[in-house]
Amino acid sequence: MNTFSETKTGTDRFRLLGGWVERPDDLQPALEGDITADVVIIGAGFAGLSTALELTALGASVVVLEQDFAGFGASGRNAGYLAGSMGVEFELFHKRVGLEQARKLVSFYDEGVSYVERRLRELAIDCDYNPSGIIRAAVHPSQEKKLRHSMALGQHLGSVTRFVDADEMRARGIPPAFLFGCTQHGGTLDPGKYIMGLRRAALRAGVRLFEQTRLLSYSEGPSIVCRTERGSASAPFMVLATNAYTPQLGLLRDKVVPLRVSAIETAPLSKAQLKTLGWQGREGIVTPHWTMESHRLTARDTLLVTTKQLGYAYGSGTPNQPDPAAYKVLVQAMDDRFPTLRGTPIGACWSGYISLAFDALPVVGTTGLQRNILYSAGCSGHGVGTQSLVGYLLAERIGGIEHPLLAALRHKTPTTLPEPLQWCAMKAALAGVNRLDRALNRKVRASLAP
Ligand SMILES: Cc1cc2nc3c(=O)[nH]c(=O)nc-3n(C[C@H](O)[C@H](O)[C@H](O)COP(=O)(O)OP(=O)(O)OC[C@H]3O[C@@H](n4cnc5c(N)ncnc54)[C@H](O)[C@@H]3O)c2cc1C
Repeated sequence: MNTFSETKTGTDRFRLLGGWVERPDDLQPALEGDITADVVIIGAGFAGLSTALELTALGASVVVLEQDFAGFGASGRNAGYLAGSMGVEFELFHKRVGLEQARKLVSFYDEGVSYVERRLRELAIDCDYNPSGIIRAAVHPSQEKKLRHSMALGQHLGSVTRFVDADEMRARGIPPAFLFGCTQHGGTLDPGKYIMGLRRAALRAGVRLFEQTRLLSYSEGPSIVCRTERGSASAPFMVLATNAYTPQLGLLRDKVVPLRVSAIETAPLSKAQLKTLGWQGREGIVTPHWTMESHRLTARDTLLVTTKQLGYAYGSGTPNQPDPAAYKVLVQAMDDRFPTLRGTPIGACWSGYISLAFDALPVVGTTGLQRNILYSAGCSGHGVGTQSLVGYLLAERIGGIEHPLLAALRHKTPTTLPEPLQWCAMKAALAGVNRLDRALNRKVRASLAP
């Protein structure tokens, strides 16, 4: 059994800011006084910084207000899978939006990968990107039907994937717990280096970034006034790139729910441990569980295990605190999939928040009396590519061009529930999927028992 699970609460390795970033040494000063710009962006994650960079390239003057520091949110805490439509639940939205729009949505997800790959080159961001592809891999033979069905539907919608059979998995040295799967372009990166690269590029480009500057309120009109503790920023356009934190601002409360996602990371593995794993290509692996498991090696030779068990806090809260139960379940997943690593110390664990719409589709649009407030949320656990690409789409929209991919995102998002119904519904739904996943994992263990 892994040493981490022997600690009482599982919180002694907890990292408040996640495992990739620290508060930057050149933390930008808080906003003081009243300023104006062409666009004010709230939130400095992938979406906010990407929008800021694209707008600046179009010649706009841009202010970004960030409550803590750029990368404080999910963008600095994620698992670093740059994945396209792989792992997206095609069934869920195919029926809802129809074939044509579903095809465009798939290309939105896939285009996110190409967009980030291009931006890494253009902005010269070194974030240990390994374009290994992502494999959605089964851990039990009974997952084959679901995997093949989803892959076939994805292909029908334009997703470029192919099946990887057991022989190929073994030939590639993929750890044996992963039986077969389907693969798609993309890869893994260090999200901390990516977001800090965007931050540096934004500062270099002249974006006025105010960190430790929380948006407290705003008033609408031809010029939107965004109020903070010690000042205000006004502009004809405001972009809310606050993702899971948006409901706390009183917006999108009826469209998205914040979900807590957790991660554990081992201490660096020895050369001998790495050799026992094989896994020469270091492909990012996700599983077709109801709540996926994701397993990847990092450039610092650690193993990162994420997702597996999601959490919802009453009232759409986003408390930045440990989730020992989730870390324990992640340790169990690691022990199950990597028996040769049992006993390896856990170096870090953390949690962060994504936002989810009930149809699992992106929630990107325009609101306000003057239609000059733009927002982006709801990219679930697939924001590395999509939320970066959204920056480009929103900047074009502000510049007067509606990109076809932005138009494709327009659809009616199902309404969330009022509390306490939402809390009850989320708890019941998460408990249900956890039960199904636990049953499958028991089958896997039983099939391996001597
Ligand atoms: C543990 C974990 C693993 C994940 N793994 C992956 C993965 O492997 N691949 C993938 O594609 N996606 C993954 N995701 C999802 C992905 O990280 C997100 O979809 C993406 O980072 C969202 O980017 P964003 O810019 O929209 O939001 P965020 O990065 O959350 O940025 C929002 C920003 O707004 C700021 N803010 C909030 N309120 C205010 C306010 N009032 N005033 C000023 N600023 C404010 C926050 O501080 C934050 O910095 C993961 C997420 C988590 C938590």
